[in-house]
Amino acid sequence: MKIVPNLVPVSKYSIKCPYSMTPEFIVVHNTANDASARNEVAYMISNSNKVSFHYAIDDKEIVQGIPENRNAWHAGDGVNGQGNRKGLSIEICFSKSGGKRFEEAEKLAAKFIAFKLKEKGWGIDKIKKHQDFNGKYCPHRTLDMGWQRFLDIVKSELDKLKGGATMAEKNVPSSWAKEAWEWAKKEGITDGTNPKGAVTREQLTTMLYRYHKQVAKK
Ligand SMILES: [Zn+2]
Repeated sequence: MKIVPNLVPVSKYSIKCPYSMTPEFIVVHNTANDASARNEVAYMISNSNKVSFHYAIDDKEIVQGIPENRNAWHAGDGVNGQGNRKGLSIEICFSKSGGKRFEEAEKLAAKFIAFKLKEKGWGIDKIKKHQDFNGKYCPHRTLDMGWQRFLDIVKSELDKLKGGATMAEKNVPSSWAKEAWEWAKKEGITDGTNPKGAVTREQLTTMLYRYHKQVAKK
């Protein structure tokens, strides 16, 4: 997964990421403005506010601002808060206006989160929202559009990474079988469902019978 690094200089660690950290979960945010990921990170690094986050993600790229082994100030739960001290923070961009750009940013964020879950051996339960730590309605647009919906997107990305075929993939024949499968569908030998299912004797017999009646006699 390609990540664009723009890490905060060590001289600013005392403001932006003073504590070492071993992340224990992911915290999802929406930026509530319309800046790109590069601009979000550049702005975060340039100011002297105790506000920071590990990654910003827009419709095109993932930009990292804080190393994963440092904490960041994003969860609003104080110096010793779980969110601020254990959470790997991800800002999804373009949430103010929403629309296609935001939807694409959310998709890329879901892919990245799935990648992180797999890398760390974590399950979906390791995905938290900012709201869980201080009650703030964030990630606002992701929540508006449905939190469970977002978790489902991450889940399907994670399944893909784990090599488990999704339902859609299960319904498509393998490339080497495609020509024969299309032929058998056209000739009425198979109804075209469940290409990867195992076949029983009665199903095989029925397919042979259909072949005999419709093709062999041609
Ligand atoms: Zn937030």
